[in-house]
Amino acid sequence: MAREFGAPLGFDERVVPLPHGFEALVRVEYTGVCHTDLHAVEGDWPVKPALPFVPGHEGVGRVVAVGHLVTSLSVGDRVGNAWLWSACGECEYCASGRETLCLRQRNAGYSVDGSFQEYMIVDSRYAAKVPEALEPAQVAPILCAGVTVYKGLKTTEVRPGQWVAISGIGGLGHLAVEYAVAMGLSVAAVDIDDAKLALARELGASMTVNAAKTDAPAEVQRAIGGAHGVLVTAPSGQAVAQALGMARRGATISLVGLPSGTFPVSVFDTVLNGLTIRGSIVGTRADLAEALDFAARDKVHATVTTHPFADVNEVLDDMRAGRILGRVVLEVAGTLAREDAGYPTRQASTV
Ligand code: NAD
Ligand code: ZN
Ligand code: ZN
Repeated sequence: MAREFGAPLGFDERVVPLPHGFEALVRVEYTGVCHTDLHAVEGDWPVKPALPFVPGHEGVGRVVAVGHLVTSLSVGDRVGNAWLWSACGECEYCASGRETLCLRQRNAGYSVDGSFQEYMIVDSRYAAKVPEALEPAQVAPILCAGVTVYKGLKTTEVRPGQWVAISGIGGLGHLAVEYAVAMGLSVAAVDIDDAKLALARELGASMTVNAAKTDAPAEVQRAIGGAHGVLVTAPSGQAVAQALGMARRGATISLVGLPSGTFPVSVFDTVLNGLTIRGSIVGTRADLAEALDFAARDKVHATVTTHPFADVNEVLDDMRAGRILGRVVLEVAGTLAREDAGYPTRQASTV
């Protein structure tokens, strides 16, 4: 649990909650570590989580108990929590299939305790249903990174055969390369680290550009005449500014990475080049089901390194330093050397 911004997470023993109404209690097997968890722990976004809180929104596990109103899940089902923990179901956004814009949404690991704990509560109406055929550690990154880039790529409106530039080849970006290739797009991958770019090539990127060594916009313009769409996953304002320069006329630049702050936009260039600049936030339940289906059909396969739950602070340090290739997934269940007999009453949780 995070008790103080910028401090290491602490481990604490807490009471396992009972699931009420539409809620289900889930024994967490694995959880991915998203850069959003790091933003939450640092408290570096304009809207901060209320302390203390338990981070984590790429948690996968099995249902161990359900509330009395639950109809869509049963004990034993494998499910995941997602950033969109719940929404109101009634507002204009919810009513029009855009629940990720709901003003009354709750977010896992931010406004509701997340998956960095042994037992988590999910809302059965919003929890991801995880296909049984998939390895749980492999699925974890799809729950946020996968669905976010899948939706982000859709919002670039790039068509099969056209070029998409993907800036930032981390947890999100490496999956973006895979989804883009599966969607028939040609990929120009941009990062500031050669190891990330080598991974992008392995995953099917047709060209790579190191933005720390070359003028990335000039290189993308020279090599392919600009990209038909640009997806920015890098948590960097500089990357956003550069993304505009990688665009072909008429392109859409879809912003996904969340550095705090602003970026400069040339009104003249935006107008003359007919650019669209838009934001894209995670994905709806329908997007998530589609993103999971790509994984179930073996079209995407997250590059995952697993660590024991107790290593969470070292993993966050590695993320701060940009040392993670692909996604780190924490193995939670059974790694804290405690007994799991019968209905759980006490659990360990990060604090
Ligand atoms: P990550 O740390 O795994 O990856 C970030 C990558 O960006 C790294 O490969 C890093 O080398 C690269 N990078 C850093 N600066 C760069 C630059 N100037 N140019 C190009 N590449 C650069 O992080 P992640 O988990 O992939 O998350 C990325 C961002 O996306 C975070 O800000 C996170 O909060 C945000 N996010 C947004 C959504 C959404 O719905 N919009 C969802 C999930 C995460
Ligand atoms: Zn995330
Ligand atoms: Zn709503």
